[in-house]
Amino acid sequence: MYCPNCASKNTAGQKFCRSCGMNLSQISVSYKEQYGSEKDAAIAFWDRFFERFGKFAFGGLVGIIFVGVIILIYTVVTSMIFSGKNPVIGSFVAVFIIFAVMTLIWVFYNEAKKDRPNAKADEADKHLLEGTDTQDFLQTRSSNLFPL
Ligand SMILES: [Zn+2]
Repeated sequence: MYCPNCASKNTAGQKFCRSCGMNLSQISVSYKEQYGSEKDAAIAFWDRFFERFGKFAFGGLVGIIFVGVIILIYTVVTSMIFSGKNPVIGSFVAVFIIFAVMTLIWVFYNEAKKDRPNAKADEADKHLLEGTDTQDFLQTRSSNLFPL
């Protein structure tokens, strides 16, 4: 990448310009956002892959737990309550399983909610760097450094 202040060539990811010492870290970020490198594309691909993989695995796990809970409740209800062997304990176990599942759902819901504000903040940062804000920032900065 080229330094926007003195136009000398710098390697990507460098924090300061080699010839004028300008802070390039912000520019480097917006440069990457706009053009991206092959390495970034590969990372993004694997990120997406594991995100999908994770969702698939999580979905499967939730499905199996759901089916398992239904089988468990059915077994408890038929073998303990309807057979008349242990109606009190059977009801207690069934209610316990239902509340345990409800608690798990609540915990997962709260975990999922935690991730959302971060995603929003990242999105806001991205827009800030992509927009004209960076250019304005650079222009005011260079005119402050070198007033005409
Ligand atoms: Zn420079």
